[in-house]
Amino acid sequence: MKEIILIKDGELALKGLNRSTFEDMLVKNIRWRIKPFGAFDFKKSQSTVIVTPRDDEADMDAAVDEISRVFGIAGYSRAAVTDKDMDKILELAPIYLKDQLMEAKTFKVNAKRSDKKFPLKSPEISATVGGKLLECFPHLKVDVKNPDIIVTVEIRDEAYIRGNQLKGAGGMPCGSSGRGLILISGGIDSPVAAYMMAKRGIELVGIHFASPPYTSLRAEEKVHDLLSKVARYSGRIRLYTVPFTEIQELIRESCPEEYFTIIMRRFMMRLSNMLAHNTDCHALITGESVAQVASQTMLALGCTDAVAEFPVFRPCIGMDKEEIIKISRKIDTFNISIQPFEDCCTVFTPKHPKTRPQLPDVVEAEKALDIEGLCSRAYEGIKQILITADGVEYV
Ligand code: ATP
Ligand code: MG
Repeated sequence: MKEIILIKDGELALKGLNRSTFEDMLVKNIRWRIKPFGAFDFKKSQSTVIVTPRDDEADMDAAVDEISRVFGIAGYSRAAVTDKDMDKILELAPIYLKDQLMEAKTFKVNAKRSDKKFPLKSPEISATVGGKLLECFPHLKVDVKNPDIIVTVEIRDEAYIRGNQLKGAGGMPCGSSGRGLILISGGIDSPVAAYMMAKRGIELVGIHFASPPYTSLRAEEKVHDLLSKVARYSGRIRLYTVPFTEIQELIRESCPEEYFTIIMRRFMMRLSNMLAHNTDCHALITGESVAQVASQTMLALGCTDAVAEFPVFRPCIGMDKEEIIKISRKIDTFNISIQPFEDCCTVFTPKHPKTRPQLPDVVEAEKALDIEGLCSRAYEGIKQILITADGVEYV
């Protein structure tokens, strides 16, 4: 039996003249993502992308599973393909949809006839197929308003038979909104932030600050594992790891303790600016949520943003921890995030951090440091790796 995948694009419908560019990007993303699972052909037709395997070698289950996580897709379904011949349609429909129809209590048939030369009109196709299905599955009842399953029969170049459409990952095709730099820690929030911005079409580049020997190699691997989960949705992510030890030690030696965290965060921003400029990123992304900790009060965030040279996207900003955790479970990062490895933020946490820091005081407190020298030394020590859904691709 020949089977294809039908993909409905999502918000793309809103994009007017840009539409075909967005669609091309979506097709490119899908093509790239299902490449490991076989050879496929792609065709666009009326806000649907039709994916056809070239031979029997293609792993359709794996391809469909992958497609469920590609952004820019409103819905998708598998369909059986046969000739435009009523007898063949009637023979195939009960066999192809058997499992779904056995589970359903009610159904309806929806026929679409793009080929107007087909001898039966849409209502006639629906009635005939419906009759056949009732005959084969006597437990079923027709419900035209709210059926458990809608059987769709489409007459195009060939006849397509399919069951319910499944909900796609939504959002915009990755890359269609440009590139952003995600500041990724080992915590719960930043992987969720990464996922949320990828969903809006942002291609992700990662930056992680590591402070060995205070932070372990295992803490870095944890970040790789987290990004690998995010990459299942966003596609591969290049991660840059910045040596942060010298900066943290000098902050501890030279600055008032109550400003440690805020000064450290400003260094993170400065190094992120440098990397964003060099990697063609146009926004910084963090997992911050207002009032969650001392460094995330409005005034503290203001002091951090004062050194940012790009818009800072904080998609978790108005979310409760519970809401963030719900998403982290959905994308399967939660169980990795809760593994207990020290992050650089927890290494030198002040006992009484300033919750209402004033920018001039912070700037004054930083004066003891050679900011430029520290940043350029850390920047020179950056290491990069490529992370895919399967793990670290190369080091
Ligand atoms: P998360 O759960 O993402 O770690 P958090 O609530 O623990 O967030 P912080 O540790 O204060 O908050 O960090 C706030 C944000 O700063 C993180 O969401 C992340 O974007 C960024 N960040 C923190 N530590 C690092 C790090 N070591 N490397 C890169 N970015 C970091
Ligand atoms: Mg953290």
